[in-house]
Amino acid sequence: MFSQSLLRFLHQVHSALWRWRHLVEQRYPKLQSMTIELTSSCNLACPHCCMDAARAGAGHEISREALVQFMGKVKKTFGTGVFLTLTGGEPLMHSQALEVLADLKAQGFVLGLITNGALITERNISALSAALSSVSVSVDGLAAAHDLRRGAGSFDRAMHALQLLSAARIPQLMVNSAVHEGNLPKQFLSGTARSVRENYEGRKTGPTELRWSLTAATGLK
Ligand code: SF4
Repeated sequence: MFSQSLLRFLHQVHSALWRWRHLVEQRYPKLQSMTIELTSSCNLACPHCCMDAARAGAGHEISREALVQFMGKVKKTFGTGVFLTLTGGEPLMHSQALEVLADLKAQGFVLGLITNGALITERNISALSAALSSVSVSVDGLAAAHDLRRGAGSFDRAMHALQLLSAARIPQLMVNSAVHEGNLPKQFLSGTARSVRENYEGRKTGPTELRWSLTAATGLK
C-alpha cells in the first residue's frame, strides 16, 4: 500500500516537472544548432553544386573577426550548447580556416565540418582534430562515379581524408553521397559501402562513429 502511494506521488511529481519544462521551453526556445558558410568558394567544380561555388573565386568569405564577434553574441544569448556546423563552398578554402576553428573552439562551441576532404592533409589534421567533434566528407561512389562530377583524383583525396580523420579519432565521421545519373546503378550502394569499409577495416577507430547519408544531386547542368 505504502509503495503504491509512493509510486503515485512520484508519478505526479514527474508529470508536474515535465509540464513545467515544456512551458519553460515554449517561453524560452533554445537554439540547438547553427550552420555557417565560411566561404562560398571551392577547390572543386561539381556541376550539381547548389552554391555555384567554383565561380565564386577566392575571397568570398566571412571575416574571422566578424564571425568571432557574432558568435560571441550567440554565446551570450544562448550559451555554448549550440552545435555549430561549418560549411561552404569548401570551408577549408577560407584563408584563415584553422584560426577560425581554433577561435570558435576557444569560445566553447561544439564544432562540425562539411567538406569534400581534398584539403585535409598530414599538415593540418592535428589542428582539425583538436577543434572538431564531427566531420562529414562527400563520397559519391567508387572512384569513377565520384570523379565523374568532382574531378580526377578527388576520390583518392576524399579517401585519404577519411583515413586521416579516422586515425585522428574524430568522434563522429559521416559520409555524404550525392546521388546522380552516374552512380545510380545498383552497384553504387554496395560499392560505396565497400570502399568506405575497406578504408576502416583493421583500423583502431576508437570512439569514432561512422554514418552515411544520401542526398539527391539537384541543379544538374
Ligand atoms: S565540393 Fe561541394 S561546394 Fe565544392 S563544388 Fe562540389 S558541391 Fe559545390
